[in-house]
Amino acid sequence: MELLVATGNAHKVAELRSMLEPLGITVVTPDDIGGLPEVVEDGATFAENAVKKAAGAALHTKRWCLADDSGIAVEHLNGAPGVHSARYAGTHGDDAGNNAKLLAELAGVPDDQRTAKFVCALALVDADGNALAVIEGETHGRILESPIGENGFGYDPLFLFTEPDLPQSNRGFATLSSAEKNAISHRGRALHDLAQQLRQLVGAE
Ligand code: IMP
Repeated sequence: MELLVATGNAHKVAELRSMLEPLGITVVTPDDIGGLPEVVEDGATFAENAVKKAAGAALHTKRWCLADDSGIAVEHLNGAPGVHSARYAGTHGDDAGNNAKLLAELAGVPDDQRTAKFVCALALVDADGNALAVIEGETHGRILESPIGENGFGYDPLFLFTEPDLPQSNRGFATLSSAEKNAISHRGRALHDLAQQLRQLVGAE
């Protein structure tokens, strides 16, 4: 089965591909099919934006699509940057600017008030744009005072994973290998929950 993953973020494509290929699903990217029209991500929730991206891509291509909308929500900032994570500092995808702004907003805030969660909504839609599944995953941690690690992308260097009892706890997200991150990431968890439904759909195709 082929699935168009409706994102231009190469890091997300790589993460999703490594998780979908073991299910026998071939990932097709927007680049493979000559690009996708721009979708305005103006939903109030991650789920709304994920469905919007997936349905837009499906209607344009007449293919089954998977889209992800994700970001980080910081408790002390009342959930910001939230759905605005990609453009927190003004320019879409400016990871360095976004991280600098987050550190500035949290300057002087003590560790116990720097709790945050990564959230990922995944939307699977059929070729007519009907939503077949919308699933959310979350990962809990806190925002560090300075970046650590070289792996991952986005806010990973500022995120300390703090779920006790898991081996990755108290490690920075950007210090994890991709396998270690996928096992506990918001995207990995959402995809894990979606996998059961995907297996049935692959079997039915
Ligand atoms: P989206 O492409 O609109 O879903 O924007 C997601 C934004 O949230 C990205 O630009 C990153 O800044 C951030 N983000 C989402 N997932 C992750 C992750 O796994 N690690 C670090 N940052 C992430």
